[in-house]
Amino acid sequence: MNFIDAYTAALVLVAILSLLLSSRALAWPANGAREFGFIQLGIAVYAVAYAAELAATSLTGALRAIRLEYVGIVAMMIFWIVFALRFSGRFRLRPTLACLVAFLPLCTLAMVWTDSSHHLFYARSWMQDIGVASILMTEKGPWYWVHVANFWTFLALNFAILLPAAHRASPQRRAQITLVLGGSFVPAAAEIVHLLGLMPYGLDPIPLAFSITGLLFGAAVFRGRFLAVALAARGPVLQAMSAGVIVVDRYGNLADVNPAAAVILGLSQDSIGCRLLDLAPGREELDAILTTGDGKSDFLVVTEARVVRRYTASAFPIKDGIDRRVGTAAIIEDVTEAAAHLDRLVELAMTDELTGLLNRRSFLGQGNQAFELSRRAGRPVAVAVYDLDHFKRVNDSRGHPAGDAVLREVAIRLSDCMRAGDSLCRFGGEEFALLMPDTDEAGAVVAVERLRAAVGTELVPWTGGPIAVTSSAGLFASVPGPGDSLEGFLEKADEALYMAKRRGRNRLELGRPGRQEPEQPQGPGNGGHYRPI
Ligand code: GH3
Ligand code: MG
Ligand code: MG
Repeated sequence: MNFIDAYTAALVLVAILSLLLSSRALAWPANGAREFGFIQLGIAVYAVAYAAELAATSLTGALRAIRLEYVGIVAMMIFWIVFALRFSGRFRLRPTLACLVAFLPLCTLAMVWTDSSHHLFYARSWMQDIGVASILMTEKGPWYWVHVANFWTFLALNFAILLPAAHRASPQRRAQITLVLGGSFVPAAAEIVHLLGLMPYGLDPIPLAFSITGLLFGAAVFRGRFLAVALAARGPVLQAMSAGVIVVDRYGNLADVNPAAAVILGLSQDSIGCRLLDLAPGREELDAILTTGDGKSDFLVVTEARVVRRYTASAFPIKDGIDRRVGTAAIIEDVTEAAAHLDRLVELAMTDELTGLLNRRSFLGQGNQAFELSRRAGRPVAVAVYDLDHFKRVNDSRGHPAGDAVLREVAIRLSDCMRAGDSLCRFGGEEFALLMPDTDEAGAVVAVERLRAAVGTELVPWTGGPIAVTSSAGLFASVPGPGDSLEGFLEKADEALYMAKRRGRNRLELGRPGRQEPEQPQGPGNGGHYRPI
């Protein structure tokens, strides 16, 4: 086998290697992998065509092979720069930039293909017998040197793009970019060898050089095995996840649905490519966050077993290597149990454990809002405070459980009697507070006395014998002014309650604006009548 034959065989090997790398790269989901695949395709075309040129025996055959070579060379050069742009991760490949990059190489291709009519690329070409074979010899024309200049400009551009990117990159990424930069030196060295005519018979070392470059670029693109493991793990992890995962492309078509999401949304595997709303009508909110690529949506699903389950979907955008949104993914989590626990916690925080009424804090929270609304509307608000009379005696004579039973029963009687729109709470110990929005003093007196009657008319049943209960109440009603507050109204009602106790209990007293003067205690209860203080 002579040198030319060996070189031809090497070119065929390069072409096979490049095709293998290309097919792997085109299916590889890493940044720049597709462009790398096209570089490899270009190299394969270049190498095969060059092998054909070496095998050609006629000038026409050799020149025809040259035309094909330049298809490969031009593709390789264009995608080399596009690869560097993508791989750097810092540039968006806009159409204008792509045209700029492709312009000169495409002109060169046109020149090569039309060379027979102008000879601007090769001024002269002939076949020369070198003993072992006859090979194509050429005298370069002016455009050939434009092409050489283009080659060196692209090489410089490659460094200009990747060096700053390497500078800013993480150590792992820097190692990859360094591989690409190293790979870029090889064709440069080969071109120098070629231009200086150092190769035997003037053979072109560039295709071989590019195959070494391809291996280095490939090492950078495929990034070792750990990425492959991570990629391989993604599918099974998605399949096994109990949370639902749904992915749509940027046009809103379903791109991926894991089994959990399929069950939750009632989708099947052939949902891919369809629109969510066509398959799951009524899921507008979920569709909306998938469209915007952001946000959360809560929804309920009634299962086949007629159980209602609550889900939360959180959407986030899926971006490509240069930060363009290519779709949206949403993770759907079953929050039924968590939501039930939360509801229970909220309920516990808001209510009084013994009576189930609102506790003081939640009463003040709700009450302040109602108070503000009334103030803005210029409507009256009434506030009443109830306190059981001589309750200590119940505890002392009948025991604490009996006292608890009385408190529970009083709470029921008060709640049953109060109007919708009013709020009642256990204000503390054996005290209850009532807020009546939109109620003036006269109306509130009627309501409070009705409640007091409900508490005291019937005995509270208890195992050791029924228990008699009476209550005293203080009431304050007014149209809230600018400086007024719910707490202020409650204080006034409490002062009135104090008066009711002093005036003999089992009665209602009305609070008045301003401070009240303490009064001397009077005789026993007046049976529920009230007197303004
Ligand atoms: P007055 O008519 O002046 O209000 O007399 P009183 O005995 O009701 O007086 P006071 O307000 O001082 O006593 C309230 C009592 O209520 C004291 C406390 O033991 C009792 N008490 C407070 N909370 C509870 C409770 O949750 N369960 C029971 N069983 N008793 C309670
Ligand atoms: Mg009391
Ligand atoms: Mg008390």
